[in-house]
Amino acid sequence: MAPFSLYDILRSGPVRRAELASERAQSQAGKAQRSADGLEDQVGRLTLVATAMWELLRDRLQVSEEELLKKLQDVDLRDGKKDGKHNPPAVACPGCQRANHRRHVHCLYCGADLPIAPA
Ligand SMILES: [Zn+2]
Repeated sequence: MAPFSLYDILRSGPVRRAELASERAQSQAGKAQRSADGLEDQVGRLTLVATAMWELLRDRLQVSEEELLKKLQDVDLRDGKKDGKHNPPAVACPGCQRANHRRHVHCLYCGADLPIAPA
């Protein structure tokens, strides 16, 4: 029977488990960073579209900033909370009755077509 070296001992047990935990944490951190980068890109695109739409409304239809702010408040309150965000309610699947985010076209759970809910 070959004798174990100190290296073999360190490569097993608690040290190895700590290494694996570290690798998992690094992988999760990488996924979180990619997700955050994707969200940042999405926010940038949405900001671009909102800015262009606002400038068209202001310049071509003479919509005032006060009218824009009033509409922002109205839309903000549609979900029952004045929180500076628009969070449309989830859509219930006609097949399984489970809640799905409005951005989905098909149910995440059973694949049924989801109804198009009003904004
Ligand atoms: Zn379903």
